[in-house]
Amino acid sequence: VNGSEEMPVEEVKAVDRKPAIFVPVNRSAVVQKARLKLPILAEEQEIMEQINQNSFVVLAGETGSGKTTQVPQFLYEAGYALKKMIGITEPRRVAAISMSQRVAHEMNLTTDEVSYLIRFEGNVTDRTKIKFMTDGVLLKEIQGDFLLAKYSVIILDEAHERSVYTDILIGLLSRIVPLRQKRGDPLKLIIMSATLRLEDFTQNLRLFKVPPPVIKVETRQFPVTIHFNKRTFDNYLKEAYTKIVKIHNKLPDGGVLVFVTGQREVKTLVRKLRKAFPLKQSTGIEDHLKKTLRQAKKKKGVTPIDLDDYSVPGDNEESGDESDYDSDIGDGVVHTNKPLWVLPLFSQLPSGKQAQVFQPPPEGCRLCIVSTNVAETSLTIPNIKYVVDTGKTKVKLYDKVTGVTSYMVTWTSKASASQRSGRAGRIGPGHCYRLYSSAVYNDAFQEFAVPEIQQKPVDDLYLQMKCMNIDKVQNFPFPTAPDLMQLKTAQSRLEILGALKESRVTQLGRAIARFPVLPRYGKMLALSHQQNLLPYTICIVAALSVQEVLLETPIAQSPMEAKTLRQKWVATRKQWAGVGNSLLLGDPMVLLRAVGAAEYANADGKLESFCTENGLRHKAVIEIRKLRIQLTNEIKLNVPDADIIVDPKLPPPTDLQAKLLRQIMLAGMADQVARKLDPDELAEGEDKAKFKYAYRANNMEDPVFLHQGSVLKKTLPEFCIFQEIYETNKMYMRGVTAIEPEWLAIYAPGACHFSEPLLEPEPRYDPSAGKLYCTVSATFGPQAWSLSNAEI
Ligand code: ADP
Ligand code: MG
Repeated sequence: VNGSEEMPVEEVKAVDRKPAIFVPVNRSAVVQKARLKLPILAEEQEIMEQINQNSFVVLAGETGSGKTTQVPQFLYEAGYALKKMIGITEPRRVAAISMSQRVAHEMNLTTDEVSYLIRFEGNVTDRTKIKFMTDGVLLKEIQGDFLLAKYSVIILDEAHERSVYTDILIGLLSRIVPLRQKRGDPLKLIIMSATLRLEDFTQNLRLFKVPPPVIKVETRQFPVTIHFNKRTFDNYLKEAYTKIVKIHNKLPDGGVLVFVTGQREVKTLVRKLRKAFPLKQSTGIEDHLKKTLRQAKKKKGVTPIDLDDYSVPGDNEESGDESDYDSDIGDGVVHTNKPLWVLPLFSQLPSGKQAQVFQPPPEGCRLCIVSTNVAETSLTIPNIKYVVDTGKTKVKLYDKVTGVTSYMVTWTSKASASQRSGRAGRIGPGHCYRLYSSAVYNDAFQEFAVPEIQQKPVDDLYLQMKCMNIDKVQNFPFPTAPDLMQLKTAQSRLEILGALKESRVTQLGRAIARFPVLPRYGKMLALSHQQNLLPYTICIVAALSVQEVLLETPIAQSPMEAKTLRQKWVATRKQWAGVGNSLLLGDPMVLLRAVGAAEYANADGKLESFCTENGLRHKAVIEIRKLRIQLTNEIKLNVPDADIIVDPKLPPPTDLQAKLLRQIMLAGMADQVARKLDPDELAEGEDKAKFKYAYRANNMEDPVFLHQGSVLKKTLPEFCIFQEIYETNKMYMRGVTAIEPEWLAIYAPGACHFSEPLLEPEPRYDPSAGKLYCTVSATFGPQAWSLSNAEI
């Protein structure tokens, strides 16, 4: 796609007639009765008329009004699936699976016809008419078939979540739809959303010249009484537990829905609640379950409740993306012997278990669902009267330097707190217990969550979009645009890296894009498919994205003790810095060896004392381990040919590996090379002593300095690369690695000026010597050198 310059926004005129088609659907009486209660049914005619008459329609309605389950059915009945497919995207995998199953069940069709596709999993067939998929899957399809020829209509569901993929899909489809119109083969786009910030889509002239019609589905919402806590406690899981126990002990019947932040928290709370309110002690439940099971076997599409299945799935799994929390929940006082039917709900829950949350609880039980924010807008749980809101959510954080993602638990937004409380008012007046004070709500909660596209590092976004063959990223019609200046810088950085050439993505660029980190680190990972280097590079990238791994000052009882410790720290760091104690390689290499050694100590159960003795921050080591596991898992998913196992213990690299790692780092940081400052370059009268540790970087005017803690202060190498610059009284380089000048021409040609005639630095391989050679002449700053047969 070219940007708006090349492809003007088209005004699409009403041309379609309502098809005189009605495709019958054979629904069961039970389903039909349930459907008629949904507010969206009253709007079917209005919705279908707007869709028939317009290419773009925005459909907004409260969660639970029936958008996701009903609109595909309206379209099917109106003939939209006769020749082509109806496609629906969801930002969450769990919604894609669960909704496809629900719609298949309601329509009495098989999962061959109403299917889902998420990455690496799905049941789509040739006969599929309605296809639920994640937004990432549809983006991939656009790369193969830009006009989406298989579809007659695309529904982008949950657009208010503002996932990067959905945002990009809106931009792409705003151009694809007019193209299809021109070809006389119209494609419809329906943007579905909760009633939040619709103007981002409708009032954006780059997207739609004429604002698309907005249909709002009115929902009956009963009043929900909000109860704020007087105080805000740190251990919100304990607070949640106590609150649920209170509700169950004292308050009238009605389901409870609890929002916590992640899968592990869900499981912990579910286990604890089941222990407090066991099922088996109350009579009749097992009989009831057996009866339900018998009935369910006769009915198609209903997942039976099975007592044996009343377990928390994946109890033993370790998941890398979970944050630590205090698992000491404490004990609430249990007064009632009424059982509580406690079910977990989170994105990775097996689909059979997911379906349970929609079934009524066994007789005599109160329903209690412990959920992540999946239940906020994606899935509507029936019969909830009480909502317990911890106010917390887990957000993705991107390290601004490396782009490594980590997860952090923070306060959610006012908008999502209101969505959560709304879940209590679907069947009658309800109550929402917010486990935080109104002062915290007013002061610490943002109005809305920031769209993901504005949080993601732009280099990564830019490269990803280039891989989708989006030509001019600057001109792309984003619903919310990232910063233009940053996009431009990203482009030039990607060119230096060799990921882009003449504005096209290179083969190397595609390889880089598969790694879930910023492109420069992606390049390092991509180059590490040799000599078993990937685990080392992963460790370096993870370590570089954690602050303050190595400590500067010991905490000691006496100045004497501090001095001894310091001496020991310095000695170990020197040892870590040099392979064979001969050469100081640089700071990332120290980190690598420090982390590796710490993990050996950890395997012996001695991590903490090891950290104190050697000047490592204990929490940093644990954080790095988590990031390494997470990165390894993500790489395994994206790069199937990467054969790596996660073992935190990492032996020190061999001399050869250490050299290759430094070359690989240079390749990734080719735009961040520095040369030792020549005293002759200084202005007259400058105090030369002050510039002992000064370097000249290829992207900076002013000199940059080796940092106090850098191991390279001893050797002052002629050339080095650095991870980033930070400024205090001077500009300091962080994460510095020594390099050999002759590597520059090969790994950082963008930083060199080549002599005439320009020599492309094509390395030659000499099989007899087993070595790479090249011939090159180059200058870097005032120095010039000519090397023939330089060994790489
Ligand atoms: P929206 O998309 O507007 O939030 P949905 O179409 O998801 O609404 O939900 C409409 C109704 O269908 C809700 O009342 C919900 O509880 C019900 N529902 C959805 N999935 C299932 C299911 N698997 N079993 C039973 N009911 C379901
Ligand atoms: Mg929905």
